[in-house]
Amino acid sequence: MESTQRTERKVAPAVREEFDVIIAGASFGGLSVASRLQAKVLIIDKDPLGTHQRSACGTFTSVIESLGLHDAVLATSDRAVIHASGVPSYHLEDPLCTVDYGRFCYDLLERGSATFLQASVQGLAGSASAPEVITDRGTFRARYLVDASGWRAVLASALEPTLVDRSALSFGLETDARYPADQFYFWLDRNTMEDGVAWVFPAGKRSRVGLASYRGETVKAQMVREFLRTTGADPSAFHGGFFPNKLRRPTVGDIFLVGDSAGQCLPLTGEGIRPALYFGQKCGDLLQSVIDGERSLRHALRDYRRDVERFRWPYKFLALAQRIAPRLPRLPLKGLLRFLEVPAVGRWCLRRYISMMPLQPLRPAAAPLAAPGPVTGERTVRTSATHAYKRRRDMPDKYIRAPAGTRDATESTRGNRLAGPKERRQGITQG
Ligand SMILES: Cc1cc2nc3c(=O)[nH]c(=O)nc-3n(C[C@H](O)[C@H](O)[C@H](O)COP(=O)(O)OP(=O)(O)OC[C@H]3O[C@@H](n4cnc5c(N)ncnc54)[C@H](O)[C@@H]3O)c2cc1C
Repeated sequence: MESTQRTERKVAPAVREEFDVIIAGASFGGLSVASRLQAKVLIIDKDPLGTHQRSACGTFTSVIESLGLHDAVLATSDRAVIHASGVPSYHLEDPLCTVDYGRFCYDLLERGSATFLQASVQGLAGSASAPEVITDRGTFRARYLVDASGWRAVLASALEPTLVDRSALSFGLETDARYPADQFYFWLDRNTMEDGVAWVFPAGKRSRVGLASYRGETVKAQMVREFLRTTGADPSAFHGGFFPNKLRRPTVGDIFLVGDSAGQCLPLTGEGIRPALYFGQKCGDLLQSVIDGERSLRHALRDYRRDVERFRWPYKFLALAQRIAPRLPRLPLKGLLRFLEVPAVGRWCLRRYISMMPLQPLRPAAAPLAAPGPVTGERTVRTSATHAYKRRRDMPDKYIRAPAGTRDATESTRGNRLAGPKERRQGITQG
């Protein structure tokens, strides 16, 4: 935070409101942090809440059970089939499931006290003791900042432009197809995806079908179409993007990084939801203890770094496996998978893998959000997200509130001066 100075206040829009915590990014990581906080929290996302699914949203059912978010589950199966020039099939003691991304996000937001704002985070300003987040809908000051904005780490990169190592990114593309899969299928085989993985996950009457490149090479929609041709199913819209495969620093200056912004997505498996939720809870608890006066920010940053550091070796091991697996000749790979198929071995490995990131149960829905009507000083915002999601799920829109003075997404932005790229650069680098 040392590099952010007050000088840019000349160019940054006037500070609209102050918060205890500002979280950039309202997906798995950001919402998990928010779910642990009982404070004045602003969570900002460029997209309407829960509308831009980037992943297959597959996870272990134990995750759902720990959090109690059963309503979000679309499909479960206790069988996973791994194609690697052969077809080993695993019985999973901890079944896998897919979740409805929108529902999951709403249910998580409901459990904390955060206010959601749809805005694009554009940079940092202010000072170390009073940092400010510049967005296209105004500037907001907070005592503490969390970057949960995905692989780009927009807040932390503003302080440290070299943070994102593009050579440590995987790339995945996925579609939703009308194909009723009954189990979770993975392809770890060079004929299907060179140096990567393919999958078909059940999601109710449809399936999530995708391809990912460990080398971060762009996966074209045509490749997913060709892969799908074997099933005879037609693809619908495509989504996806980069996800990291190497741990980054979990703090930059005084900013906490959570989820993909901290490179916490697990290599090889590409499992990023559970780590984002797990480290989000850790970060949220530490921040709450700072807000409650139980520890200093400096100690919370240090403890969070220690929490993440404990996982350095598991991440290194999975990164090594990710490098080796696609290069293994057919027979050794097949042998390894067959060995993992031995019930005692498979069970031990899976248990170790799952138990390393235990999740805490969520609090019941926070009282202020359940209050009918707008809260004093704030007003209910009807963002396009609320409408889109309500249409599908009949969700109440009372959970989406805007800080005083922010504008409804449907309002005109005429006359609202935004920080331009030059101003943003100055705001970040001056001093
Ligand atoms: C195709 C694909 C399939 C995958 N499948 C799975 C899977 O089945 N299971 C699994 O565990 N993992 C999966 N992953 C990985 C997983 O999606 C990520 O690791 C996980 O989403 C990380 O969560 P996050 O909250 O850290 O970041 P993200 O989910 O990326 O969320 C970042 C948020 O920040 C917001 N944001 C970004 N920039 C700004 C800005 N400037 N201003 C405001 N907001 C901003 C974004 O809109 C977004 O909501 C998959 C990834 C891909 C690409």
